[in-house]
Amino acid sequence: MKILVSSCLLGEDVRYDGNNSSIAMGSSFTFSQKELFMDILCDNEIYSFCPEVSAGLGIPRLPAEILSATKPFKVERENEEDVTISFLIAAKNTLDICKNDNIKVALLKSKSPSCGNIEIYDGTFSNTLIKGQGLTAKLLEENDVRVFNEMQLDELKAFIETN
Ligand code: SF4
Repeated sequence: MKILVSSCLLGEDVRYDGNNSSIAMGSSFTFSQKELFMDILCDNEIYSFCPEVSAGLGIPRLPAEILSATKPFKVERENEEDVTISFLIAAKNTLDICKNDNIKVALLKSKSPSCGNIEIYDGTFSNTLIKGQGLTAKLLEENDVRVFNEMQLDELKAFIETN
């Protein structure tokens, strides 16, 4: 199955701070989680993609949070610079990849203002999580691309096996 995967989860240094969120090398993942992740990588066709970098947001870049997750969307940096358009371009670029390559499932990094699928930071830059989706995860799900995060590898595996 074709799976779009957040580049940072694959170990690419594309995060805002110039680092990655590697599952395979990360200390916060158990051996069995890493093993499951490697199985998924080996058994499927992986498309590595970073929405924010695709939209021209550099590495490193100042972190951003979502102030409005519904239209009109608003994404800002802590210095109040409005980066909404870049985040919307990031989401559109990702959807284009999925449509062009007929990708129906994505494994995206949790909590990101682009990739988060269940929780996001609340827009106050106080490290406070709320329920919500990043703009890319939201657009993909609205267009029938199933989104899982790195803590949902078992669910992703079950999805792969039943689709
Ligand atoms: S936009 Fe997504 S893929 Fe890119 S660094 Fe952020 S979480 Fe990772």
